[in-house]
Amino acid sequence: MSTSSSATKQLFINNQWQSAASGNTMEVVNPATEATIATVASAGADDVNVAVAAARAALDGPWSRLSARERGRLVHKIATRVMERADDIARLETLHNGKPISESRQIEVPAAAECFEYFAGWADKVVGETIPVKGNHLTYTLREPVGVVAAIVPWNFPLLLAAWKVAPALACGNTVILKPASQTPLTALALGEIALETGLPPGVLNVLTGPGGTLGQALVEHPGVDKIAFTGDTATGKSIMRSAADTLKKITLELGGKSPNIVLADADLEAALRGASIGIFYGKGEVCAAGSRLLVDRTIKDEFIDKLAARAKKMVPGDPLDPKTRFGAVSSRKQLETVLRYIESGRTEGATLVAGGARADIGTGKGYFVQPTIFADVAPEMTIAREEIFGPVLAAIEFADLDEAIARANDSPYGLAAGVWTRDIKKAHYVARKLQAGTVWVNTYNVYDTAAPFGGYKQSGFGREMSAHALEHYTQIKSVWVDLNM
Ligand code: NAD
Repeated sequence: MSTSSSATKQLFINNQWQSAASGNTMEVVNPATEATIATVASAGADDVNVAVAAARAALDGPWSRLSARERGRLVHKIATRVMERADDIARLETLHNGKPISESRQIEVPAAAECFEYFAGWADKVVGETIPVKGNHLTYTLREPVGVVAAIVPWNFPLLLAAWKVAPALACGNTVILKPASQTPLTALALGEIALETGLPPGVLNVLTGPGGTLGQALVEHPGVDKIAFTGDTATGKSIMRSAADTLKKITLELGGKSPNIVLADADLEAALRGASIGIFYGKGEVCAAGSRLLVDRTIKDEFIDKLAARAKKMVPGDPLDPKTRFGAVSSRKQLETVLRYIESGRTEGATLVAGGARADIGTGKGYFVQPTIFADVAPEMTIAREEIFGPVLAAIEFADLDEAIARANDSPYGLAAGVWTRDIKKAHYVARKLQAGTVWVNTYNVYDTAAPFGGYKQSGFGREMSAHALEHYTQIKSVWVDLNM
């Protein structure tokens, strides 16, 4: 049975669709219309028990007997199937998240497919080593799967962030329980459908929908889950780290950010304007690496911010399903309220509002739309300069010289990403080394590739997604010693 054929979309466990043991459900809301668009099962601890049993059985079952190359072929089939269904999946992503269909269809869905394609290629290239040791031994290493991986993802890039975890986990021979955010479960369930369509053995990929506080927590506490791969809020990450301690689970955490985007006076200012704008307004600012702190050289600040504000004012929120729309709806009512609260704090703490600053209406009187917002004259200690807003709100801060720019950029508990705009190649490399961030973009912003690692410094988390480095988090190393004495 397909999820779409039933009124309530069910949990995907052991290649079967089933209701939550409690019978509980939850509603999925389209943030652009405020209408309920689906009802999904709301799983709890009992469902986690069933899913973990299925995932463990699969580890010892046909999945483990497949050759690495066959496993890679199956992961590659997922990539192919995601692209075959790209229109339908992109529509779901836009419906539950509010992002423009152009972003879903042209950027996120292809990137997710590419992630499966990339890790499919790794499946038969994860190798051990032979080690010259003392004595007469053959000593070698095996790189084995970690086991049952719980992948817990947020609502901003529901499909892509799931792919970043599910693809390397499967390629390395693990089994997975995927838990999407409560607001955005639909594309994770589509991955469940694709697991069936591509012939993944039962229990290899399971999808549980439900609330983080109960379902997520149950996954973190379950002794049968070997690893938590988490993306989300820093506070949630800390709580997961504490809870995972009891069973000493392996964890990787991709957390929040307050990324600085530094514009030096010698930059190509047109390019920097585009980059500053994309840095904060792409994905409605609901991007963990958003360039939400713009650091601008004092000598160019006024002109730069005037031009940036003019750009922002032209960026009008619209119906996310309209292919021409470039700026969609904030993902939920809660997120809308959070963003508006931060805008208010910017005003009351004395920053100068130069663009936006209010809820927007696309002519329907419905939907969680916010105007692209820019504050100038932001002091580094203001709330909007320190806390992650996770919305389309930019805090512009000036600096007097390069050392001050670097010091201000690093003056944050976060360290996910950073940008620098300059024509001076030496300065560019100097700043890139000085910035405490997992990714530094020079004369560009918000570019990603599955082959390049992504992850945080400081309280933006640890572990790396994508690239060969991700494989380290989904394998464990066994040393085998063989006595060769005759
Ligand atoms: P969130 O932490 O509230 O939720 C993320 C996921 O964790 C959801 O599936 C949620 O249901 C689940 N969850 C919540 N409480 C839990 C608990 N106690 N135990 C286990 N799981 C729990 O985050 P969010 O609001 O959905 O997402 C926004 C955050 O994600 C932002 O801080 C953003 O910066 C961050 N983010 C980081 C990256 C990155 O790669 N570093 C990427 C995207 C988003």
